Amino acid sequence: MRHALITGVTGQDGAYLSKLLLESGYRVYGLDRRTSTPTTERLHYLEVADRVVLLDGDVTDQGSMVRALEGAEPDEVYNLAAQSFVGSSWRQPVLTTEVNAVGTVNVLEAIRLVNPKIRFYQASTSEMFGLTAEPVQSETSPFHPRSPYAIAKLCAHWTTINYRESYGMFACAGILFNHESPVRGIEFVSRKITDGVARVKHGLATDLRMGNLQAKRDWGFSGDYVRAMRLMLQADDPREYVVATGRAVTVEEFCRIAFAYAGLDWREYVRVDPQIARPADVPALCGNAAKVKAELGWQPTTTLEDLIAMMVEADLKRVRDERC
Ligand code: NAP
Repeated sequence: MRHALITGVTGQDGAYLSKLLLESGYRVYGLDRRTSTPTTERLHYLEVADRVVLLDGDVTDQGSMVRALEGAEPDEVYNLAAQSFVGSSWRQPVLTTEVNAVGTVNVLEAIRLVNPKIRFYQASTSEMFGLTAEPVQSETSPFHPRSPYAIAKLCAHWTTINYRESYGMFACAGILFNHESPVRGIEFVSRKITDGVARVKHGLATDLRMGNLQAKRDWGFSGDYVRAMRLMLQADDPREYVVATGRAVTVEEFCRIAFAYAGLDWREYVRVDPQIARPADVPALCGNAAKVKAELGWQPTTTLEDLIAMMVEADLKRVRDERC
């Protein structure tokens, strides 16, 4: 039986990846950092909480990484742990760099020391392209990160490549474009919108305050994207892959589809609040996933409309249940 260790197991992708790996016959271990309240809500939502073995640890504490690797004896490590919210990275730049950049060095260094044959996946991001001049980004597009989050992720991305080139380790990175689900963090724009729709629909809010409505993103479904992570670690050679749908729409269009799904007109509820704007925005991101499709046979299966419907449905139910 293959063993996998997931850092960031309590996050959105950690939960979907746990489910996928368990269904594929893996024994799944998850790194669980100490918090004062439980963080396994997403694992429970996907009904895998009782089958994931949690190990105490934090990616900023290298000793704990060594102990987690010794405890799990993994064949594969998926490094999903991050301060993952771009907006917070301006307010907590040092922490973001510690977790996202130094944390990745810690994980790779622990693998090198404990068992360099372990296969390693790094959660890189389309935010690394940032202020890109190319309308569609692929593995060869230049990077221009625009936030402390993206800069730290770019450091982790190059560290991953450097460990491969320096030590011959099977270390690869997926450059994933935005991907969402009903368990996306509530602060992210997609979930903020679907939660806002549910709150308006149930009479708990009269408007939804938003930042830049013209930002364009390529949104996919987390359940599809974790399949690409696993495929990368089953490949013959470690490489970098863009994972995206190839369709980008504005935040405004996301609002329109989400409100319309609940029978509402977004223009009656969405208010632009300039105070929500970011110090340096990324205007548009759209990915070309031709390489991962051709080399690893990956395909997304969920349309944007289906994804938004899934998220609005889940939030309508959650808000209704909370009211009862
Ligand atoms: P998420 O829901 O925010 O999950 C982040 C996870 O990291 C949580 O489990 C969190 O634990 C954990 N974590 C934070 N600091 C840690 C630390 N110091 N030590 C150990 N664990 C720590 O993020 P996600 O959406 O699942 O994304 C997964 C990864 O993919 C992240 O690295 C993200 O930056 C990257 N990514 C995401 C997207 C996207 O659109 N979702 C796109 C590209 C790349 P707690 O539960 O204790 O907070």
